[in-house]
Amino acid sequence: MKRLSGFYTTVFAATVTAALVGALAPASAAEVNLYSSRQPFLINPLLDAFTKETGTKVNMVYIKKGMLERLKAEGRNSPADLVLTSDLGNLNNLVDAGLMQSTSSAVLEANIPANLRHPDGLWYGLTTRARVIFAHKDRVKADEVTTYEDLAAPHMKGRICVRSGKHEYNISLLASIITAKGEAAAEAWAQGVKNNLARKPQGNDRAQVKAIYQGECDVSLGNTYYMGKMATNEKDPVQKKWAASVRIIFPNQKDRGTHINISGAGITKSSLNKAEAVKLVEFLTGDQAQAIYAQGNFEYPVKPGVALHPMVASWGTFKADEALMSNVASQRTLATRIMDRVRFDN
Ligand code: FE
Repeated sequence: MKRLSGFYTTVFAATVTAALVGALAPASAAEVNLYSSRQPFLINPLLDAFTKETGTKVNMVYIKKGMLERLKAEGRNSPADLVLTSDLGNLNNLVDAGLMQSTSSAVLEANIPANLRHPDGLWYGLTTRARVIFAHKDRVKADEVTTYEDLAAPHMKGRICVRSGKHEYNISLLASIITAKGEAAAEAWAQGVKNNLARKPQGNDRAQVKAIYQGECDVSLGNTYYMGKMATNEKDPVQKKWAASVRIIFPNQKDRGTHINISGAGITKSSLNKAEAVKLVEFLTGDQAQAIYAQGNFEYPVKPGVALHPMVASWGTFKADEALMSNVASQRTLATRIMDRVRFDN
């Protein structure tokens, strides 16, 4: 039998034991099987708190890459009830592959603003992060860059570093520009930014800040939590210097607001423990879990009123683009095509 997860063995053993003692009802206490592409350091404390409060055990499998492929391969036999992903694109890919089922929950509707969840309950945002501009503290004047559009302007020629245009984070940003301004304007923007690059797209969001620190460029695009991770990095303290060389600009404060992305959760079509899975998602949007998220990874809670990490709070408040994330998600395919058309990475 091609069952890949370690916990299945446990479930199977429990079922056999139950059969032997002649029990007809489910053998063990409630359980939920979770596939997470969010890292254990962040998720485990949340799951421990959930089990402590509800008595429901969570069997987590950490899947760094290949969530979609694995769920597709397992199909209806997948043991997964619930999936956690770290961005909108991966959630949307699961929906497009027909792997998720819809849920409705008054708790989720109360805790999560409507633009941060799928209208049919196919996924729910759990945290947000802003895709901001990191700008060198001295080399970039206050009025030089205040919008994403400024990155495509002639005065930014040769001054921008960015990761691959095909990365989910940049695809979602471009999808948000399509949503706000249409395809032609979005393509002109992508072409304009490409023309202004200091070097070919490469590396991750932090590598761009390193390049700013080293003088290769003046601005980059990056997710807010990377600022927190760099500024507090004891394992690789040089990252503190990278962080200290830049300031955060929240773009488009005078119009549509700064693009945000979400981490989120969805219930799988194969779920046999849907009620428990929904309970877990509800728990993850509650005050306690939202505080753990906020303190653990420099992200923004989705639930209004939950306190921010002090460093995140120090970056100041900002206006977020409130476009429906599901509308943004539906422009991702076109965004990918635009990145190809402008040959962003070449
Ligand atoms: Fe990231």
